[in-house]
Amino acid sequence: MAELSAHEIAFVPDLIYVEGQFKSGSALICNPAGQITDVVPADQLTGQKRVRLANRAVLPGMINAHSHAFQRVLRGRTEYRTADKDSFWTWREMMYLAASRLTPEDIYDASRMAFLEMALGGIAAVGEFHYLHHALDGRHYDDPNLLAKEVIRAAGDVGLRIALLRVAYVRSGFQTEPNPRQARFIERDPETYLKNLDALAGDLNQGTSPTAREGSSKSGTDGALPHGRATDPSAWVGVAPHSVRAVPLDYLKQVIAYANDRDLRIHMHVAEQPAEVSACVEEYGRTPTALVESEGLLSDRFTAVHAIHVTPKAISSFAKTGAIVCACPTTERNLGDGVVPADEYLRNDVAICLGTDSHTQIDLLEDARELEYHLRLQKLERAVLDRHSQASSLKSQDLAELLFDCAATNGARSIGAPGGALEVGKPADFFTIDLNDAAIAGASQDDLLASIVFSASRTAIREVVVGGKPIVSEGQHLIQEEVVERFTDLQRRLWG
Ligand SMILES: [Zn+2]
Repeated sequence: MAELSAHEIAFVPDLIYVEGQFKSGSALICNPAGQITDVVPADQLTGQKRVRLANRAVLPGMINAHSHAFQRVLRGRTEYRTADKDSFWTWREMMYLAASRLTPEDIYDASRMAFLEMALGGIAAVGEFHYLHHALDGRHYDDPNLLAKEVIRAAGDVGLRIALLRVAYVRSGFQTEPNPRQARFIERDPETYLKNLDALAGDLNQGTSPTAREGSSKSGTDGALPHGRATDPSAWVGVAPHSVRAVPLDYLKQVIAYANDRDLRIHMHVAEQPAEVSACVEEYGRTPTALVESEGLLSDRFTAVHAIHVTPKAISSFAKTGAIVCACPTTERNLGDGVVPADEYLRNDVAICLGTDSHTQIDLLEDARELEYHLRLQKLERAVLDRHSQASSLKSQDLAELLFDCAATNGARSIGAPGGALEVGKPADFFTIDLNDAAIAGASQDDLLASIVFSASRTAIREVVVGGKPIVSEGQHLIQEEVVERFTDLQRRLWG
């Protein structure tokens, strides 16, 4: 057992989710640096400060691997037909319109709203796929990372960890006229992009992802440590070449080589829409996945976001290289993107993580269940992703565990976050579920996870703790009122 001290905190819920199952009668011990030092029987506690969490189950904080925080302003504003056939592409024009109107302070307010809702939903860390770099007219700010820093500040103020996945964006597409609404995104040459990325990493005191630099004490957005954490980083950078449509191959290769040299995470939109796949075939004679695979750009640092319209060969190339797929089912159903072939990915041992992407809804448990539900609707079957073919009393638990892993451990791997599981040495990033909540009341210890994954709504999430510090308590975030008020003002100004 780790050495205990009076400065340690013992969180004592009814149940703790460790190693794929709920344990009762245990306490989670957290040191002053916000890390888990032990999980012990509650009756063996000694001098720690006790925090009793009555009628609660504790689960690892979830990881939202794909977010565009500012898109929160679009919620409810795009749910009508704008053309003969409304689609991702017509929605995108509306998104660009919103993106072209937000000041740095607006981006902070919109991001804070999105992150606050994530916190209320049990999310402890986010991968922010950030592509707003420049002023409204496309001119560069004096600090080329001004807007990225506004987003990082928003995450810090809400208390979430953030991987700022800085987007490289060059063009509208292969043989496509420039779209003036993309002016805020564009950095035309890789040198400029990498210089700006380097500057941001430097400002965060981080050149690499946190999992590559375990044991380092550098952290924080300005060298300081939000929440007093000593070792686990609150903000770090990764690269995000937007897509093969928006970034030509030579540029893409330079960005990925840079990231590989420094062990940074790489996120890219891949095969979200059939039109993206056909444009890539036209330009390179290969699909997007075949292109990145044949150029040697895939690795276990690479996350392919969406990866819906793929061939069996693409799936095996993800499997061979250890690349991860990030599914965003609530956005994919909203935009009519299609269904992620999660069954094929899992059959080939490709890990899947989850993102709330456009934030039509921010509820990672909903994304987890949709991963399975979309396949049920498509195949007219149940329990499609269950790994067991034989009947088993633990069957539903296994499926729930698999889906929850997508929302937690796989997400952490994808964005290089230090959490994702309640284990010694990892940060005390967790959320609680009220065992008396109407949506899950009556669940037994064995079927609790399935009840949470398939049936819980956000009301069941009552406390959220990041790095040992509470950010949500009794279902309310510490700065909720102010965040909502400022965001409501922003929406009024934006939409009249
Ligand atoms: Zn996206």
